[in-house]
Amino acid sequence: MQASRNLPEHSSFGSVDSRFCKVALDTPLRRLFDYRIPGQGSPGTNVGVAPGKRVRVPFGRQKLVGVVVELADSSELAEEKLRTVIEVLDEAPLLDAPLLEFLRWAAGYYHHPVGQVFAAALPKLLREGRDPRARTWLWRPTATGVKALAEQGLRRAPRQQALFGHLASGGGASEDTLDEAQPGWREAARALARKDWIERVQMDAGDGAPAPAGLRDVAPEPGEAQRAALDAIVARLGTSGAFLLDGVTGSGKTEVYLRVVEAVLARGDSALVLCPEIGLTPQLVERFRQRFDLPIAALHSQLTDRERLAAWQQAASGKARIVIGTRSAVFAPVPRLGLIVVDEEHDPSYKQQDGGFRYSARDLAVLRAQRLDIPVVMGSATPSFESLHNVELGKFTRLGLPARAGTAVVPRVTVIDLRAHAVHRGIAVPLLQAMDRHLAAGGQVLLYLNRRGYAPTLLCTGCSWIAPCGSCDARMTVHQRSGRLACHHCGAEEPLPERCPRCGYPVQSLGHGTERVEETLAERFPGVAVERFDRDVLRSAESLEAAFDRVKSGSARILVGTQMLTKGHHFPDVTLVGVLNADQGLFSTDFRAGERLAQTLVQVAGRAGRAERPGEVLIQSQYPEHPLLQVLVTKGYAAFAASALPERAATHWPPFGRLALLRASGTQPEAALKFLRAAVGEAGPLPRSLQLRGPVPAAMLRRAGRYHAQLLVEGSQRAPLQQFLTQWLPKVEALRMPGGLRWSLDVDPLEVF
Ligand code: ADP
Ligand code: ZN
Ligand code: ZN
Repeated sequence: MQASRNLPEHSSFGSVDSRFCKVALDTPLRRLFDYRIPGQGSPGTNVGVAPGKRVRVPFGRQKLVGVVVELADSSELAEEKLRTVIEVLDEAPLLDAPLLEFLRWAAGYYHHPVGQVFAAALPKLLREGRDPRARTWLWRPTATGVKALAEQGLRRAPRQQALFGHLASGGGASEDTLDEAQPGWREAARALARKDWIERVQMDAGDGAPAPAGLRDVAPEPGEAQRAALDAIVARLGTSGAFLLDGVTGSGKTEVYLRVVEAVLARGDSALVLCPEIGLTPQLVERFRQRFDLPIAALHSQLTDRERLAAWQQAASGKARIVIGTRSAVFAPVPRLGLIVVDEEHDPSYKQQDGGFRYSARDLAVLRAQRLDIPVVMGSATPSFESLHNVELGKFTRLGLPARAGTAVVPRVTVIDLRAHAVHRGIAVPLLQAMDRHLAAGGQVLLYLNRRGYAPTLLCTGCSWIAPCGSCDARMTVHQRSGRLACHHCGAEEPLPERCPRCGYPVQSLGHGTERVEETLAERFPGVAVERFDRDVLRSAESLEAAFDRVKSGSARILVGTQMLTKGHHFPDVTLVGVLNADQGLFSTDFRAGERLAQTLVQVAGRAGRAERPGEVLIQSQYPEHPLLQVLVTKGYAAFAASALPERAATHWPPFGRLALLRASGTQPEAALKFLRAAVGEAGPLPRSLQLRGPVPAAMLRRAGRYHAQLLVEGSQRAPLQQFLTQWLPKVEALRMPGGLRWSLDVDPLEVF
């Protein structure tokens, strides 16, 4: 037994002599669990239980790992009913007091079980009780290797070439990923290591993986607007401030982040940088690696469990003073955190949208920064209406970067009227002609289509039968190459029939997906290499990187793809962007559909002409006179937002009102609606500022074999809505639930239909 030299570092609750602790356990229950601290009874005999440390505790007949959140001198439960902590797993707290409080706040705000919130914040191996200091080995290119490759290339040995390329593109890779990514890599690694082209380092040894010195970039001199933004942010370091960096694509936002981070590091502090997509992480990490001679921890969803633990530990130990990651990185432990950056703050992937803990990493980043008294910088070319509204309210400071950095100019945008032109398999003649022109001039062409697969509909030419999903109220999508029908809502698949199962007539694919467009392009532009970007062809971060490399090297000339292509990538040689169908979303019932469409169009248009070559953007539409397209094309995103925000205000939708959505689903058609009606019955008298709308069946009633319904809670202000949820949810939880019923609450939902 240890004596009291194990003073808890955070004794704001209870004391070293506390006899109880409150533990967050990964269970669906919305509370902390009390346990007895072993050896307590006489003063000063705490075995080391302290807030922020993990403990193993008995739970029913199981043993669970949880995080101590508080020490307590008393418990609401009788002492003899309480069970005792089995084991303390950490010598020092894994989470510091501000992070613990932040997680508790997040659990409260989203009304989510606190133990599951803690679970979302910790790497899996830590949740399982593993020692955070476990070792992971990493291979990475040396400066010699990078230089040699540039000078002489690696012409022979294809294995070595592949391995070196793989390591160079990711800045290194851990051994446990190489077995899968580069089968037979060990021999090639030995050969490359003998030449001193690559080296093996311990990922958590404190030297992480900074870029070899030869790769450092030279920081460009900031332009006037960049300078003003920088000065404004740097002036707030050490105190709080929320900034919206509103700059067109290519205006040098990343350059501003880099400079601000430099100032943060100079103060001895660390920085947390969030980006929305796994696909964007390597690119952003690379920019930072080329600028800073420091270890960088990258936290994203494609890491193996061991890599994630190692990266987390690098952040937690303070060895990596730059932490870059996707959504859940907002919970990363970063000692001396001095700045949070949220790149592409408008991106919907910051909001966890399915299952579990539905939080917004952007909103939580703002809150975390506020609580720590540090600045947060949110960047976007197409700011969310929430952020624009916060600027109006004076909560955020807007910093504008109005022009593209360097010599690049903003592309010209035109709408093609699909009713007025001949259309060749989804592509209008003016777009085909523009493609000819740009390809002949040596440019690359990017075509955007938000629909993967070959065709969205399979139709019978005899009886008009349409292939349905057996589990959803949805059509099956044709995937020609794999010879399958797939449901994009539930993932169901079946073989592609050649004849109608109902009448035996031949069937026909209707409409166009990326796979079909690729086929069309191969016929129309023979000999021109096409690269397709969608989830069907690019399943891993490596394959995505390889595809980007083919684009950058110029071996791919036409890019066709989904959403994947619209996000912050640099394609310096893309001079023409074509949007094949802008019309999904023009008439959607979701109140955010217009905002989303405008953001997507502007983001995809921003891929054109980023370097010296001027860009052109062509948008195909059946409704070229639609006000959204008109305002967007002639006046730009800011004007569109300015015209659309008053509509939101008039209808009291966010950001002018607050929403929470109670969703339910059941195996019987009526079960979810019945449950939600009962929930309404528990609501009691509502304050004037609150309204319940529904319950109503979901827009897609049947999905994955379940029947969905929802109930919307609408309020004009946050506080009364929160108070209502706090007293209402326990009653909802206590309702009798029919078998198979599931429900969840979504605070600040992104989609409400
Ligand atoms: P954004 O993040 O807004 O898309 P970036 O910071 O990536 O913009 O900048 C776009 C390109 O312009 C990059 O290649 C970057 O190196 C370059 N750049 C940024 N700022 C400057 C500057 N002040 N002078 C010259 N080039 C710049
Ligand atoms: Zn038929
Ligand atoms: Zn389905």
